Amino acid sequence: MVDYDAVVIGAGAAGMMCAAQAGQRGRSVLLIEHYPLLGEKIRISGGGRCNFTNTGAGPGNYLSQNPDFCRSALARYTPRHFIALVDKYRIAHHEKKLGQLFCDDTAQDIIRMLKSECDRGHVQWRMPCPVDGVERTAEGFAIATPQGLVRCASLVIATGGLAVPKIGATPFGYRIAEQFGIPVVPPRPGLVPLAFAPETLVRYGDLSGISVAAEVACNGGRFRENLLFTHRGLSGPAILQISSYWDGRTPLSIDLLPGQNAAQWLCGQVNSQAQLPTLLAQRLPKRFAQQWCAAHDAAMPMKQLGEVRVRDIAAQLHDWRVLPSGTLGYPKAEVTCGGVATSRLSSKTMGATDIPGLYFIGEVVDVTGWLGGYNFQWAWASGHAAGQFA
Ligand SMILES: Cc1cc2nc3c(=O)[nH]c(=O)nc-3n(C[C@H](O)[C@H](O)[C@H](O)COP(=O)(O)OP(=O)(O)OC[C@H]3O[C@@H](n4cnc5c(N)ncnc54)[C@H](O)[C@@H]3O)c2cc1C
Repeated sequence: MVDYDAVVIGAGAAGMMCAAQAGQRGRSVLLIEHYPLLGEKIRISGGGRCNFTNTGAGPGNYLSQNPDFCRSALARYTPRHFIALVDKYRIAHHEKKLGQLFCDDTAQDIIRMLKSECDRGHVQWRMPCPVDGVERTAEGFAIATPQGLVRCASLVIATGGLAVPKIGATPFGYRIAEQFGIPVVPPRPGLVPLAFAPETLVRYGDLSGISVAAEVACNGGRFRENLLFTHRGLSGPAILQISSYWDGRTPLSIDLLPGQNAAQWLCGQVNSQAQLPTLLAQRLPKRFAQQWCAAHDAAMPMKQLGEVRVRDIAAQLHDWRVLPSGTLGYPKAEVTCGGVATSRLSSKTMGATDIPGLYFIGEVVDVTGWLGGYNFQWAWASGHAAGQFA
């Protein structure tokens, strides 16, 4: 005897998508959410307008110990499928840049849409309702809650990662994986601002608000976007993107003049009396050019620097090495890298290969998207995949 065919824990992006799909297949579904407000992460996403997908989303936009794991689910539920759903609900949207689709009005439209899809599948709710524990039974699983025990055949864990704990993030999903012997790739904050080491902060900390068009590379990741100086270090899209690749040890390589030939430009003026910071201010923010030259002992006339030194400086402009002291952590992160190891999950169903009926979807899994709508696309795609089987 079970109370529900499927119980989904976590009513975020992935959980609502999965519950709606399973419900619309005729399964009886209960969604359990511990936070009193529905879809908080969706509500605050994309600056309140929810960057709900990216038209170019593909496996190459995701980090994971198994980069191929996401391939199947992403192919079966594509950005076009989600856009069709958004269009069906007449939610106006626009492309901001680089295939990133945002609501014209508010992210609440997406939450309302997902809730309506759950209603169409007759999904039942317990919210707010914490989960005290989960056990395996002969029929599937028993879930203990303060509102009573629930028995189900399938259990879907959709509790997300650790980013922004103040709106309900918990390590619940990792604990359940561990309880059932499924390894967890150590979680760490991703899409997160980085902190300067104290000596770097002294030099650049007062540039807060200044932005530079740069190309930032580290550990195989490379992004050409803006970086932003903050009062604690670096942020902006280029830095958020590369933060997911940063291992805490390797310096970032920052090209301050991407696509340009600094050596050719500067060597052409090597006999000039012009100060290097003055020249650099033609192509970089003036105050940054001054600080950078001071830090590199190069705040002097070009003639005095001489060609050998100028060539060296040009190389450093294309490869400014910065070793952050850390990230600003989960309170400021958009996602969690790492998570439930894909080696023990089916890429077709999202089910645990050794525990029939147990599924993991969304951000709790070791699949992390780039900035730009990719994380929601993974939530929809993995939620949809599990929703066909749970
Ligand atoms: C500030 C910010 C902006 C973002 N903007 C974007 C964007 O524009 N585009 C994009 O693609 N991605 C964005 N993201 C990332 C995106 O929000 C997440 O990747 C996505 O929400 C993950 O979906 P999920 O369903 O796996 O987890 P979540 O949406 O986090 O949902 C998990 C749910 O589980 C619940 N839960 C947790 N623990 C328990 C428990 N023990 N019991 C019961 N329920 C529990 C939580 O309360 C939550 O409702 C943003 C993230 C942040 C923090």
